[in-house]
This record gives sequence, C-alpha cells and structure tokens, in this order.
Amino acid sequence: MAKITAAQGAGGERMQEFIREFVLKELDHDFGEIPLAALDDAAIIDGIAFTTDSYTVKPLFFPGGDIGTLAVSGTVNDLSVMGARPLALSCAMIIQEGFSAEDLHKIMKSLSSTAKKAGVRIVTGDTKVVEKGAADGLFITTSGIGKRSEHLDHNIKSVRENRRFEWNWPNDSAVGPGDKILISGTIGNHGVALLSFREGYGFETSIKSDAAPLNSLIAEGLKVGGITAMKDPTRGGVANLLNEWADKSKVGIKVREEDLPFDDAVISACEMLGIDPLEVGNEGKVVIAVVPELAESVLKAISKSPEGRKARIIGEASSDIRGVMMETHTGGKRVVEPPVGDPVPRIC
Ligand code: MG
Repeated sequence: MAKITAAQGAGGERMQEFIREFVLKELDHDFGEIPLAALDDAAIIDGIAFTTDSYTVKPLFFPGGDIGTLAVSGTVNDLSVMGARPLALSCAMIIQEGFSAEDLHKIMKSLSSTAKKAGVRIVTGDTKVVEKGAADGLFITTSGIGKRSEHLDHNIKSVRENRRFEWNWPNDSAVGPGDKILISGTIGNHGVALLSFREGYGFETSIKSDAAPLNSLIAEGLKVGGITAMKDPTRGGVANLLNEWADKSKVGIKVREEDLPFDDAVISACEMLGIDPLEVGNEGKVVIAVVPELAESVLKAISKSPEGRKARIIGEASSDIRGVMMETHTGGKRVVEPPVGDPVPRIC
C-alpha cells in the first residue's frame, strides 16, 4: 500500500504533486480572487489575505531564533508578499506531555516579541497536550489575516504605467518578460544555521538564522511601486521559488551566479555537506519581481531596511528561454532545477 513520504512535504516537485493528488482533487479550489488552486503564499478572499502554516522545526531553539520567532515571521511574510498588511494571527500549539515549562515560557516570549516587531497581534488560539511519543516536543500552527496594503493601489498603478498587467495583487503568475528579479539579502543562512546546530554533523559555523518579519521592508518596496510578484524562499529555497514563478508565469528566468549574495561560511558549509545553497530554506528573505523601470529604486528603498542591507538584483525574466538558467562565474550556463526533496528537512 502507498505511504506518505518525507519528500512529499519538502516543498519541491514531490510536494506539488502531493498537493494536486490529495488536496486539489478533493477540495473546491477555485473560490476567491487568488484561490487555493493558485497555491500562492496566501489566498485572497473578499479583499482579505488569509494564510496558515505549521511549524515543526528541529531543534526548537537554534542560532538566531526559535520556533516562536519562526511561527510569527513565516505567517507575517506569507501575508506581506501578497501585498497585504498583516492584521492578526492565531496560534495553535500541540505540546507533548513532559515538555519543559521554562522552554515554553521562552518560546511564548519570542512569539510575543516577534509579533510586536511586526506590529501584529495574536488574537486567538488553541492548546492541546498529547501523550509522550505523539508529538516531537512542540508543534505550532499560526494562521493570519491581512488587509490590502495602503500602498498597493499605487504599486499596481505604477506597474500598469509600464506594461499590461491584469492583476490586482502581486502573485506567482504575474512575473512578466523583462521584470528584474531582486533578493533582499544573503541566501541559505537559516537552513545552514539549523544544520550546524544539529548534533552529528560535526561542523560549527558563525551563521545565524535570518528568521524575521519582512512587512516593513516590503512596505518600502510597495511605496516605490512596479512590483509584480513577491515570495519568500522558504522550503525548497531560491531554486524552488524561481522554478515556481517560471512555471506559473510561463516565463523564463535568468540569474547571474556572481550577483547571488552568499556569506562565505554558507558556501563552505554547503560544499562540505554536498548540498546546493540555492535549495536551502530561508526564513527572513524575500524575492521580488519588478518592472525594469523601477527596479533600481525598489532596490534602493529596501536596502535601507536593516533586513535589506545586502539586497541585490540577481537576474531578470525573459521570453527567450524556458525554466531557470544561471550564468555561472566562468561564463557557462547551468539549468537550475526545482529540488526534488529537501536537503535540510524540518527547518520550519
Ligand atoms: Mg511563502
């Protein structure tokens, strides 16, 4: 009998197939302005952005944050990348009997301080305690709602001044040929920080997780305008994100290796482990597609945020190619494939 595998929850191609087979087949998925079928970061229903995410990160505490930081940042970012202003979150916890009360206090403090930083409130929730062996310590699920950002009308208008644009919200299907592709900072830090901290890998690095809410940074970008799509490169990393955009927007994407921002320690850790840093998950980064006329201005605006200091333009969308192509350091070309599984499981 067929069984569910880890790869089906890993954020790559297997997960896309899994969602089609188990979710879209059974649920009514065409409801809303950005419906379930779009498989975007959040749905848009009656002008409200709505999203949910479960956090099963291992270990619960890691360099640069903990499951509480993640549970707020991830959901805030999934709302923000749709052009929504995050309003309120829910928080549901499944706690294993015997879990440390002190650890739970620490995690609740992180939840609270990250929510304050993002300017959102946690307004409803649920707690279940299950017997030993039924959950690995603690799992958290946060859902979030957001209103249309006050800067989004201006943003959409400025896109339409430059090209045809049928959408009212930035989304995965809206990247157009010529759009510049920006990233808000260095790639791979979260996944590598977690790996380095897990026992048994035998290496240490100074790399910290990048987990952070990005709603203020994104608002600065929207104020400038010209943004057609935004997405956070979480599970499956930048490689999966660019392939999802190429696929849904029916456009090719070219990136230049020399323009990809990496910390040296991330590169050396990935080389040692034999993993592709482009497939490693991030929790405090956003990739933004912008009409070329406004790309430099958006870059400048987001670079002023503390989370955007290392922002770069890394490539552009093009109708000349299919899929995702990287121009390498040596001037060669390499196809960037969507990851099949996950090089670093349970990072979020
Ligand atoms: Mg997302």
